[in-house]
Amino acid sequence: MHFNLLTLFPEMFPASLGQSLSGKALSKNTWSYETINIRDFGLGTHKSVDDTPFGGGAGMVMRPDIIENALLSIPKQKQGRKIYMSPRGTPLSQELVKELSTEESLTILCGRYEGVDQRVLDAHEFEEISIGDYVLSGGEPAALIVMDACIRLLQGVMGNSATPDEESFSNGLLEYPHYTKPAIWNNLDVPKVLTSGHHANIKAWQQEQSEEITKHRRPDLWKIYKK
Ligand code: SAM
Repeated sequence: MHFNLLTLFPEMFPASLGQSLSGKALSKNTWSYETINIRDFGLGTHKSVDDTPFGGGAGMVMRPDIIENALLSIPKQKQGRKIYMSPRGTPLSQELVKELSTEESLTILCGRYEGVDQRVLDAHEFEEISIGDYVLSGGEPAALIVMDACIRLLQGVMGNSATPDEESFSNGLLEYPHYTKPAIWNNLDVPKVLTSGHHANIKAWQQEQSEEITKHRRPDLWKIYKK
């Protein structure tokens, strides 16, 4: 999987993705990335990339001509699905992550200032994706989150250490609690069923815990699950 990152801060990549499992996968070429510095396409001596918004208001807006030129510097066949990280986008979900992780390449536009001129988003059919209902100062951390979630689903990245089909959200529920050694810690036991060796009972307990946790913490998910 390849990521093209349109950004004013190329040095923000690969950040944490250069470490641990994603870092190993990067060195094995399971995934790759390229940063395109939007500033390189800026105008004038200051390499300006933004301007004041029509209609007034605070802040600056990234110019469509600059963003387009940055985008067109990526060969068309390497662009893949085009995503603009945006608080008003489709909320990122595990389902969407699964879908994105099957793409050969993604081009991710990281906004700054008040955002990007709408015309370039429309003209080049950028999908808008949000990582949550809060506002970041830039799209780079959001892009890293999309990348991390996709990369861990790529073949061979997690090895046998984790099973994405049993994780939170995979079946519409949050995951059950985990316990490990020591069996008694600070006078606290682990739930008896987990040391019983009875697989059916363990499965039933895990399902029950998942349901309880989801019901209390995420009534929105619970409502959908119960339908
Ligand atoms: N004026 C915008 C608004 O109110 O929706 C916020 C702009 S924000 C300061 C600058 C950039 O950060 C955005 O263009 C976007 O790329 C990124 N960003 C901020 N919050 C985000 C979120 N929740 N999800 C994805 N990207 C986000």
